[in-house]
Amino acid sequence: MSLKQILDKAARAGITTGLRRLSISAEAEAAESHHGLGGVTFELNEMQKEMQELARKFTREEIIPVAAEHDKTGKFPWEIVKKAHEVGLINGHIPAHCGGMNLGTFDGCLVAEELSYGCTGIGTALEATGLGQMPVILAGNKEQQKKYLGRLIDEPLLAAYCVTEPGAGSDVSGVKTKAEKKGDEYVINGQKMWITNGGVANWYFVLARTNLDPKCPPGKAFTGFIVDRDTPGLTPGRKEINMGQRASDTRGITFEDVRVPKENVLIGEGAGFKIAMGAFDKTRPPVASGATGLAQRCLDEASKYALERKTFGVPIAMHQAVAFILADMAIGIEAARLTWMKSATEADLGKRNSYYASIAKAFAADVANKCATDAVQIFGGNGFNSEYPVEKLMRDAKIYQIYEGTAQIQRLIVSREVIERAKKL
Ligand SMILES: Cc1cc2nc3c(=O)[nH]c(=O)nc-3n(C[C@H](O)[C@H](O)[C@H](O)COP(=O)(O)OP(=O)(O)OC[C@H]3O[C@@H](n4cnc5c(N)ncnc54)[C@H](O)[C@@H]3O)c2cc1C
Repeated sequence: MSLKQILDKAARAGITTGLRRLSISAEAEAAESHHGLGGVTFELNEMQKEMQELARKFTREEIIPVAAEHDKTGKFPWEIVKKAHEVGLINGHIPAHCGGMNLGTFDGCLVAEELSYGCTGIGTALEATGLGQMPVILAGNKEQQKKYLGRLIDEPLLAAYCVTEPGAGSDVSGVKTKAEKKGDEYVINGQKMWITNGGVANWYFVLARTNLDPKCPPGKAFTGFIVDRDTPGLTPGRKEINMGQRASDTRGITFEDVRVPKENVLIGEGAGFKIAMGAFDKTRPPVASGATGLAQRCLDEASKYALERKTFGVPIAMHQAVAFILADMAIGIEAARLTWMKSATEADLGKRNSYYASIAKAFAADVANKCATDAVQIFGGNGFNSEYPVEKLMRDAKIYQIYEGTAQIQRLIVSREVIERAKKL
């Protein structure tokens, strides 16, 4: 389905009420520069403005009203997934030959920031399917893409990215799940952990070791598979009770003699590590934009409150110490937004963006955490209480420094690049 058709559909569904209709062809716009190619410009193109406005309206109408309830109950936001699917706010990166919009990283980030403003738990539930899809988008052949990505366009189904294990998170080369070739199939055995959408996905990208020689380098030892959820022997565990982002579904998954046809191997044996790591270049920018959305929400909640709450006869915003906290929050947010924009633009230009993606992810995650702590501070005692929104923001923010590579792993990637550059000075 084209972007234009999706926007038409959204308009019919009433979600884009009041939105200006596109005056030029959306496809032509999408085919054009994604953002500021050939020079630095911070002006969004028409299509991007429409996407942002659609996502913003969706967030106000569909996510914010139910966010606290999902946080309290941990109920998976299926209704929101279905509506987001209907209006085209998920699956944006899926290629046109599978019925998708083939959107760039920048456009996906714009949407992610808006959705995360409403609730990053729901945002993560919506975004993690993009992480699961990315290895298939980057490395799948046409048949694999048509079958597995096309399915996600046809129906509101989700994918998941299955790499982490109880004993291997930051150190992906420690993955122990193994896949043994038997005839035309691979048999997978092992245990994955912390898989977002683990209990709700229709299929998984799974990283498994195919070369059991411990001396085999990671670049050759692992293979990436697409595994259907209903394959016998695949069992998601219980939903984990996490500190924050409770709407998101995180689980361990057990693989016991799970038989996968060889047609579901991505590229070939040994290519898995590169595929799994390569996906992050495309998915870290939207994680950074999600963290920026959370930080913006902190600032908006804190500044509204600072105008309402009075001490010593004046709104607390009039105390310079409080106003400067707000100013520091704004400084961090503007800078975080620039980092995701830079990393996303590099990706859309077809450049290797690992360095910028790690900077964006690390920085925006830290800004989100600082803004959340500051917002709680500005709310005083009320900030510590679950009747007010900022306590949830603080719990939700923490995971940004952990998933999709911890704060330390991002710094490892950035520092390696800095050192390499220094050697050439
Ligand atoms: C809610 C949630 C959702 C997740 N979703 C997914 C998912 O969908 N798919 C998936 O595959 N995984 C997922 N993960 C896993 C996540 O990516 C890992 O938790 C993360 O990469 C860290 O791995 P770990 O937990 O094993 O910590 P460890 O790797 O054990 O790290 C522990 C600490 O040591 C530090 N550390 C480790 N190595 C180094 C080093 N070399 N230098 C400096 N410091 C270091 C880390 O930064 C961290 O502070 C999710 C996790 C959570 C909690």
